[in-house]
Amino acid sequence: MANKNITIYNLEPEVFKLKRIIFLLALCLAGMLLAGCAPRPAATPAEPPAPVTLAAPAAPAIKVYTTFYPLYDFAGKIGGERAEVAKLVPPGVSPHDWEPDPGTLSGLKAADLLLYNGLGLEPWLDKVVGALETTKLIPVNTTEGIEPLRGVPCGPACTPDEEEKKKKEAAGELPDPHVWLDPLLALKQAERILESFVAADPDSEQYYRANFAVLKGQFEQLDAEYREALQGKARDKFIVTHLSFAYLAERYGLKQVGIAGLSPQAEPTARELAELVELIRAYGIRYIFQEPLVSPRLAQMLAAETGAGILEINPLEGLLPEEISAGKDYFSVMRENLVQLYRALE
Ligand SMILES: [Zn+2]
Repeated sequence: MANKNITIYNLEPEVFKLKRIIFLLALCLAGMLLAGCAPRPAATPAEPPAPVTLAAPAAPAIKVYTTFYPLYDFAGKIGGERAEVAKLVPPGVSPHDWEPDPGTLSGLKAADLLLYNGLGLEPWLDKVVGALETTKLIPVNTTEGIEPLRGVPCGPACTPDEEEKKKKEAAGELPDPHVWLDPLLALKQAERILESFVAADPDSEQYYRANFAVLKGQFEQLDAEYREALQGKARDKFIVTHLSFAYLAERYGLKQVGIAGLSPQAEPTARELAELVELIRAYGIRYIFQEPLVSPRLAQMLAAETGAGILEINPLEGLLPEEISAGKDYFSVMRENLVQLYRALE
């Protein structure tokens, strides 16, 4: 627009030029008053006048790496413009499958914080951090202080007694890493992120705390929606691609049955598949959940065998590039999951 005006001035007499410039200046001033007069903080430094007081500086104060999507989302929401947040596991890749390569890790050396899930989701972490030879990077375990569920739950045809026995046996077994799918445990992870930000950048404490307060409200709202929608549902069992919903199931009084184990690679035996078919028939399960980053082969096989339908549920282990560009985040996907759960448990 500016260029267009200049072109016009050059064709006009001098006096007209001056009048129009004064008029345009007055318009600009009026516009600034209406817009609150604040020049944008990120404006080019050479451009006067300089901003007087600003709520936040334009340049990020800390550089933060996260391992996978949910932590990336929470860190971005707490850090706002004061934290530069990156993610190691690329879009469309499951953190269960991902392993770092030297190229991906070069950026880590310059980072202040590395936020990770823990509970076995990132088995490569210790080795990688050890090999970085930097004293600057602080690894932050976001599940510190959360009591994990352990082991693989009882098979589909499990009786309550067998389940109790299995729980005791599981005490020494591998922890279940999928805490982020319980909104209130995800809130605890976000609290750990907040603490690490405040420690790394104390000058921005109030800013981070204000962002966190908004985020906390979102987690509590989501929890309330789950509670309200899922109480008193006709069914309590749901079948998922891999065992990622134990914390969510425990929070809302449901029971997940996995086609695969704690990671999608832990494929079922022929006997376990036969048990699943029996369970689907015995409980009149109408839908099988399929998750986006895993092959639908087994879910389709079970659906064909039993006549059950397939619905999508997303354990948020990573969003696809098209989901990110569509503006999806942890909260929108969790709400989509709730709609699907509601439908399957009717
Ligand atoms: Zn998983």
